[in-house]
Amino acid sequence: ITILGIETSCDETAAAVLRRHGDGTTEILSNIIHTQDDHAAFGGVVPEIAARAHVEKADQVVTRALEEAGMTDGGIDAVAATSGPGLIGGVMVGMMTAKAYALSRAIPFIPVNHLEGHALSARLTEDCPFPYLLLLVSGGHTQLLRVDGVGRYARLGTTIDDAAGEAFDKTAKLLGLGQPGGPKVQAAAETGDATRFDLPRPLLKRPGYDFSFSGLKTAVRLAAEELAPLSDQDIADICASFQRAAAKHLAARTERAMTDFEIPAGDTGRLVIAGGVAANTEIRAALTALVDSKGWTLLVPPSKYCTDNAAMIALAGAEHLVAEGAPPLAETLALAPRARWPLDENPEGRRHGGG
Ligand code: ATP
Ligand code: MG
Ligand code: FE
Repeated sequence: ITILGIETSCDETAAAVLRRHGDGTTEILSNIIHTQDDHAAFGGVVPEIAARAHVEKADQVVTRALEEAGMTDGGIDAVAATSGPGLIGGVMVGMMTAKAYALSRAIPFIPVNHLEGHALSARLTEDCPFPYLLLLVSGGHTQLLRVDGVGRYARLGTTIDDAAGEAFDKTAKLLGLGQPGGPKVQAAAETGDATRFDLPRPLLKRPGYDFSFSGLKTAVRLAAEELAPLSDQDIADICASFQRAAAKHLAARTERAMTDFEIPAGDTGRLVIAGGVAANTEIRAALTALVDSKGWTLLVPPSKYCTDNAAMIALAGAEHLVAEGAPPLAETLALAPRARWPLDENPEGRRHGGG
């Protein structure tokens, strides 16, 4: 089957065409991403501006994805679009675009949970069987999940305050580095001294698998205030120290979950990291060292599939289509976008929009 995917939940307008073969392998025929630059002056994503920009770009991005895949004359079997969670205006635009395409061609429309896209993204490029432990680290989420199959997710832990990506973005904003913060902090950290600041180790003694980033954020702010005005070296050192602390925290909590993870007999442990923050090289290095020490395998999608993209949405849609068959068009056309949509919700919930 060949499926068109559409992603509009935050500030990237994205479309992709993916082909899933009978043996379960997939081919990404196109992957178009337009990142909105309209938010730069505001220090964060402005929902109304994002929605308007999605309206302006959605058709173009879809057309380019179809052109690049050589599918402008038909041949698409289904359309999948992010239907939540995310900024509601943007999600609405993506869903409307997908529904219009599906209706005009009389093909199925499949609503996809954005987090499920991230959760399955390692399977775009790698042989990554179930079950696996998933560290989902993005702009809005920081979670550890057990993934037992498509649609089968159990949440083990989550952040009790800020998400990891949010902490990178706030650190960058505080230091005047611009947005999105993750890549800026990583670049600044390259010439920094990660040992200069003694930042807190969050939840070190706390059992369970939850995360916390607000203490780190406060420590960074206090360090910056104390040193103001900041030299370039100060900024680099703060970024390096923050990045090191974030990597250690993520690794420490993941290690706990690995220790308790039940691996089927005869199998080995697999850790998948996904979401925009999984693009971070120091975090990848820390998790690589952890996984090596435990004899597990680490699977990380290439960076372009870690941050928001439509290939992962097409893949999630294709997997559901194969597993459950095509949902009746009249049913999915009636679905509303969802601002909140937990990944570990009862599977029956996925076709009942409006939450
Ligand atoms: P969610 O998926 O939770 O709805 P989102 O879609 O905005 O949120 P993603 O697109 O998956 O999140 O990731 C964006 C986040 O990833 C931003 O917070 C960004 O700063 C962060 N990020 C991107 N690249 C890096 C990097 N190299 N290092 C650290 N963080 C990064
Ligand atoms: Mg984004
Ligand atoms: Fe995302």
